[in-house]
Amino acid sequence: MIVVLHRSAASEDVAAVADRVAALGMMAHVINGTERTVVAATGSEDEAHRETLASMAQVESVMPILAPYKVASLEAKPEPTQVVTGSLTIGGGVCGVIAGPCSVESEEQIMTSARAVKAAGATALRGGAFKPRTSPYAFQGMKEEGLKLLAAARDETGLAIVTEVMTPTDVELVGDYADVLQIGARNMQNYRLLEACGESPAAVLLKRGMSSTMDEFLLAAEYVLSRGNERVMLCERGVRTFESHTRFTLPLATVPYLHARTHLPIVIDPSHGTGVASLVPPMMNAAIACGADGLIVEVHPDPPNAASDGPQSLTPDAFAKAMIACGKVADAVGLTMDTTNV
Ligand code: PEP
Ligand code: MN
Repeated sequence: MIVVLHRSAASEDVAAVADRVAALGMMAHVINGTERTVVAATGSEDEAHRETLASMAQVESVMPILAPYKVASLEAKPEPTQVVTGSLTIGGGVCGVIAGPCSVESEEQIMTSARAVKAAGATALRGGAFKPRTSPYAFQGMKEEGLKLLAAARDETGLAIVTEVMTPTDVELVGDYADVLQIGARNMQNYRLLEACGESPAAVLLKRGMSSTMDEFLLAAEYVLSRGNERVMLCERGVRTFESHTRFTLPLATVPYLHARTHLPIVIDPSHGTGVASLVPPMMNAAIACGADGLIVEVHPDPPNAASDGPQSLTPDAFAKAMIACGKVADAVGLTMDTTNV
């Protein structure tokens, strides 16, 4: 249920309501909106609890949250969430671009990539150090060595770092280096991992499972939010269909659909969504045209020799051209492309 406080409520009033919610055996999530503060109470939806909370002097009204996802829902927070971490801002009318190679491969590769994507206007660097690969014989990533190279790239360029974490036990390690923990499509329903990321101070980029429904996606985000991490971005990266001309099928209707249900920012990944480099720039434009809050794009200095996902990786030149086009689309639809070079 959502406990709406009076506009005049002070921080002690919010604390008193949150304490009462906890005393009733529910979890309290304080959501500070621009207009007013609400406390989302999750757990048992007991009618008696509702009345107890409604009778508190600081409380204006108590309403049930109808959506199965509670803290993620627009009912709990009608205004969009803007996620800010280091150089990256995504959401609330600002479109940010995360770019870089699929995997961190060497110091030279990640530094060249970081400089190139920054010059083209990206505000965060991606690069996998722990790679979830279909085959156990494929390159598995540079692990902590890769994280150190990402941190060095941040030191030089100022770009925020987005990198994948695959297991709950690695959340602390990856969080020591990364600004954003990426939860991969194959792990969207790894509930222990979601909970561990929910307890991390780092922001989270949650990718949609390749055969997950929207409700499953939002409930996965709810796992992270329910542990207190408010900085969650949702990423549509394509789903499995009968189609074989692309690697996955990229449903852009996800963007307006989710905007009507959640305040969380929506990021589109046209690289995994298509698997084909030539299809990436048009889908970057299309994603912005339908209101995406951000993009995550694979860019590699030498795609034919990439250790992973070369066929879908843009060259630095192709990425720079695509970014110019995206800026024009953003202007046309009233979004601000955040290309502030940090
Ligand atoms: C990736 O970003 O390189 C990746 C493995 O993505 P996904 O989890 O969407 O397949
Ligand atoms: Mn990849």
